[in-house]
Amino acid sequence: MKKKLIGGISLSPPLKALKEKLKIHQQEVHSFEPNMVFIPLVQHIGTPAEPIVAIGDQVKQGQVIAETDAFVSAKIHASVSGKVLDITDWPDAGNQTTQAIIIENDFNYANDFRSTSFAWQQADNSFIKQKIQQAGIAGKGGATFPTHVKFAIKDSQSIDTLVLNGSECEPFLRSDALLMQNNAEKIIEGARIARKLLNDPAIVISIEDDKPLSIAAMKEAASPYSFIRVEEVPTVYPVGGEKQLVELLLDREVPIGKLTADVGVVLMNVATTFALYEAVCWDKPLIDRYTTVTGDVGEPQVVRSPIGTLAGELIDFAGRFQGAPSKVIMGGPMMGRTVNTLRVPTTKSTNGILVFNEENDWLFTENPCIRCNKCVEACPMRLMPMSIDQYFRAGDFDKCEELLADACINCGACTFVCPARRNLAATISDAKNKVIALKKEAAQHA
Ligand code: SF4
Ligand code: SF4
Repeated sequence: MKKKLIGGISLSPPLKALKEKLKIHQQEVHSFEPNMVFIPLVQHIGTPAEPIVAIGDQVKQGQVIAETDAFVSAKIHASVSGKVLDITDWPDAGNQTTQAIIIENDFNYANDFRSTSFAWQQADNSFIKQKIQQAGIAGKGGATFPTHVKFAIKDSQSIDTLVLNGSECEPFLRSDALLMQNNAEKIIEGARIARKLLNDPAIVISIEDDKPLSIAAMKEAASPYSFIRVEEVPTVYPVGGEKQLVELLLDREVPIGKLTADVGVVLMNVATTFALYEAVCWDKPLIDRYTTVTGDVGEPQVVRSPIGTLAGELIDFAGRFQGAPSKVIMGGPMMGRTVNTLRVPTTKSTNGILVFNEENDWLFTENPCIRCNKCVEACPMRLMPMSIDQYFRAGDFDKCEELLADACINCGACTFVCPARRNLAATISDAKNKVIALKKEAAQHA
């Protein structure tokens, strides 16, 4: 019998109704090509990339336009062909600014992608890893960890399982579900490439049980391979969290402060695996992605667009705002960030854009805590979100450390269940960063 997820949430009746309202009925994925792209130089965990093109340069689609020598970093590529118009500070999803390269699309699609698929089966692993690094792939599920780093396994780690995470990170998002329906064989080929790099572990693909079409497509594509199994997991948030998934699928606990590789498991999101397939087989870097655009728009849908497309343009493409615009979230309802301008561009990890009008943004207005304990019950890391939130807002960072704020996995389940609609995940994420910074500072002075 499968273990149940510790903590986590099933949607309440009003949220189920909202999920039904936001349901994407279109099975087709439309492509949108903007006139200009605004490509941020910070799209991954690690060292930010530095521009290597100049204003006025003509670039090909897929050409490297920013990079560093650091290992934990990811190259940035032109997502369209055309002319570099500017390199300047531009709004980002954190309501700050980040340097971005602005390219005018000439719609010529000039690129150096392969015309026949690369025979990776005979290739040297180090050569394949170089291709992945060259393609600038970073986790597309939201983690933004550079993918080539995942294959740098330490001697102390022995990987016996590769988990392909097809559990959509957040409610309301359909990007990965449609990607699996449309590209199951390519994702399986990407998984087989990753398996080769990890010395042939078993592959387990997890998909939530409310996605029967994705499950069927992936089962069929995986059927020739005895080392792959597809597992249905419950539709409970955050079942797609790395540590939660390893516990649920393999009954292995990942201790706080350790990585899944320390317990023999590498996880990759299905969209990241698809990007790996495109990079290795076709020399196509990570330059586009599926993004769910839903909420109070005319035609909620999943859109394929180049990285660097503005949120406002994708909202217009999906049928424009319906009602008075009130809230726009880059990402999903759990971990996404409310943005204060529609000029925020998509990045490698933008899996969704949620739009709410005045009638429906009730989810996001804060009230005082009523001590109901629901956030504690929902927390998959067994933390006390309401207390960390309270102490952080009071500036008591020692208490935040005592309450293990740095163990938070930023899943957002606490925010979602809170009847007072307190923005717990955001404050706890800030508390976590503060505690980590204070610990580092203390270690330096020790
Ligand atoms: S405290 Fe962190 S880990 Fe716990 S539910 Fe909230 S966001 Fe998730
Ligand atoms: S769920 Fe919200 S209202 Fe309930 S204890 Fe947690 S913070 Fe307070």
